[in-house]
Amino acid sequence: TVSVCEPLAVLGRDVEVPLVGGEKVSYAALDYAASAPALQRVWDDVAAYAPYYGSVHRGAGYLSQLSTDLFEQSRATVAEFLDLRDGDQVVFTRATTDSLNLLASVLPAGTRVFVFETEHHASLLPWRREDVGVSYLRAPRSPQEAVAALDQALAQCPEGPKLVCVTGASNVTGEIWPVRELAATAHRHGARIVLDAAQLAPHHPVSVRDLDVDWVAFSGHKLYAPFGAGVLAGRSDWLDAAEPYLAGGGASRSVAREADGSVAVEWQQGPARHEAGSPNVIGAYAIASACKALTEAGFEGLVAREQYLIGRLRAGLAEIPQVKVLTLFGEEHPRVGVLSFVVQDWNSSHFSAALSAEYGIGVRDGLFCAHPLVRTLLGGEEAPPSECGAPEALPGERSLNAIRVSFGAGTPDEHVDRFVAAVR
Ligand code: PMP
Repeated sequence: TVSVCEPLAVLGRDVEVPLVGGEKVSYAALDYAASAPALQRVWDDVAAYAPYYGSVHRGAGYLSQLSTDLFEQSRATVAEFLDLRDGDQVVFTRATTDSLNLLASVLPAGTRVFVFETEHHASLLPWRREDVGVSYLRAPRSPQEAVAALDQALAQCPEGPKLVCVTGASNVTGEIWPVRELAATAHRHGARIVLDAAQLAPHHPVSVRDLDVDWVAFSGHKLYAPFGAGVLAGRSDWLDAAEPYLAGGGASRSVAREADGSVAVEWQQGPARHEAGSPNVIGAYAIASACKALTEAGFEGLVAREQYLIGRLRAGLAEIPQVKVLTLFGEEHPRVGVLSFVVQDWNSSHFSAALSAEYGIGVRDGLFCAHPLVRTLLGGEEAPPSECGAPEALPGERSLNAIRVSFGAGTPDEHVDRFVAAVR
């Protein structure tokens, strides 16, 4: 066995939940891909800072200065965590969705965006601007096919600014994408590339320099920090040249009433340009704390632990003939601690509800905000929404949605074993 990495101890391991029969069991949180539990260390850091927090970049008082320092130090910690290049910047956002919408808002007019239809909606949809074209690439069936498809699409694209957006690890299959190869292909054609690292960063080191991506986006709440803060990091030029994502205080360097009655604004350069309003200082500090904890613990132990759990999970599920694991690149392709499946003759929503009510196991069911991908994996059309919003299949029919199990730091063997036993 590979033991739990203690420096990455998480909160909530001893939460008791009631089952249908009234009995109580400890909750098995197997939905890390939606939101991971916070690290104890992150919680402690935030609690230690809480009595001192003040507004940043505004106050002359001691606590405002302290908070400004901590906020800017948090930016530097994230830059280190992502191994950014000189001149790159870290913008604090609300989460990955916000980060990618921010990037979409700064694209030069006439940009063409290339995105695989297999992406999460957060990386599939923000590019739909009137002055931006989007090419949706078909679901590839191997990493090589993904690289070749991008190569071909970019080769056919006329001159002009181009952006590729790609996920590092799928939120549905957990499969790791060939980011370095896609980045090299993008750059060979003069395109830029943004990495959606929402699912990769919590499981693997992400070096912007080494992967050679232009931007990276991730969410605090999937990286063992609380909700409400995320990151967009990378090249400054497009960010500094565009109108601010949000107009307001903090983004403006100087605002003056003109003689003709209009108002002239000089916007900030750097991260402040896109961080108008009072920023989420605690969120940024929590992300930095999580980055530090992951760096100090090292990813090796976490990766080894997750791979061990994946092996245990897959071996267990392989013995249940009714289970079909969803995969784009093949079951042997490297994945993070995320796996989706369907069970023959079972409706995935009912199945997941039973895992919760009868076994105290929390997973996710549905189409995981990646409708085209899940539809491709299930090989069928999406059913019309049911009353509760989820596509419905009656017992005995082919399921039109899936079940996702996901885990990470702090997941004990027992959670995976209980899950496999419950499925069986
Ligand atoms: N991209 C991927 C791959 C994701 O899994 C998610 C969250 N499920 C997002 C983007 C969006 O993240 P958030 O909801 O934190 O904005």
